[in-house]
Amino acid sequence: METKAVTDVTHLARQLIACESVTPATGAVFDAMEAILAPLGFTISRFVAGEAPDGPVENLFATRGSGSRHFAFAGHLDVVPAGKGWTGSAFEPDERDGLLYGRGAVDMKGSIAAFVAAIGDIPEDAGRISLIITGDEEGPAVFGTRALMEFMAERSIVPDLCLVGEPTSVNTLGDMMKIGRRGSVNMWITVTGTQGHVAYPHNADNPIPRLCAIMSELEKVRLDNGTDWFQASNLEVTDLTVGNEAHNVIPGEASARLSIRFNDRHTGDGLVRMVRSVAELHGGTVEAIVSGEPFLTPPGDFSAIIAAAITEVTGVEPELSTSGGTSDARFLSKLCPVVEFGLRNATMHKLDEAVEIADLEALVEIYRRIVRKALEMPAG
Ligand SMILES: [Zn+2]
Repeated sequence: METKAVTDVTHLARQLIACESVTPATGAVFDAMEAILAPLGFTISRFVAGEAPDGPVENLFATRGSGSRHFAFAGHLDVVPAGKGWTGSAFEPDERDGLLYGRGAVDMKGSIAAFVAAIGDIPEDAGRISLIITGDEEGPAVFGTRALMEFMAERSIVPDLCLVGEPTSVNTLGDMMKIGRRGSVNMWITVTGTQGHVAYPHNADNPIPRLCAIMSELEKVRLDNGTDWFQASNLEVTDLTVGNEAHNVIPGEASARLSIRFNDRHTGDGLVRMVRSVAELHGGTVEAIVSGEPFLTPPGDFSAIIAAAITEVTGVEPELSTSGGTSDARFLSKLCPVVEFGLRNATMHKLDEAVEIADLEALVEIYRRIVRKALEMPAG
């Protein structure tokens, strides 16, 4: 039984999918993960962080082996809610026509299973291997990977390389890996005026023209033209609100919301300062939340190892991309070079999420080659 548990990737994925773990996740899915890892010689630490509504969140850090190189795999066991309309049941894994169905099959219990299956036959003295597994990637990610990084910092644990198993492939397994991600910041601009009767404008102060002036100035800002590895940063206005129900009232307040996805030419705080300086010229105020800074692992030895492993197994040459939304790599990149590679993302977050079993098996072989090569890389 145990041999099957550590080598059969489908069996491993089924065990994880069968644990309902809608974000933020704790408990059963981590029990299953611990039961899978313990026989492989891992020392496992688990802790729960945070309180409702963003928590509690369970996190798991597992490590084994020693040596000059320390390779880490990062992932999440939480999933987005199932939604209504599945052909089967989202949390009862089901194999049909070469596909394994279930919430998390691609994002990302399947790739966690593939990583475990990949390291099953790598000897412990080949080097140190760690798994950094959170129960909150799909939610606000406040008590997830950041808490794990604090846990690691307190113990002076610093991997040399980190592979994040997010589903980065698009049309075929291996066609895309991510060497960076853009940053993201959301801002709320408010202009306060003085409410009054439209027939007596001298007694009022209309905030709408001032908000429009702010928005038109921001619309003209060209943040950059992109870089070798990133597309151009972009600012999108996502809401304008006055909420005035009367035709004869000058409103007292107008507000707008905007979102900026930005490359490594900028920082979240720098963009907030820029927007604030424009808004303040017209008497506006700005609230902001920076949800992630950009990161880039410039192409080098690590990305070359990953690309070579992908091509050897699939025959596909991966594109090195920085597209898409934020991921936990934004935190991990502060520790060491981080690259993301995983399954095809066509069905992630959708009804009937499913992974090709052949892809799962190929991913095991790709991950095995990456770990072996990464542990052989010269230190320093
Ligand atoms: Zn994910």
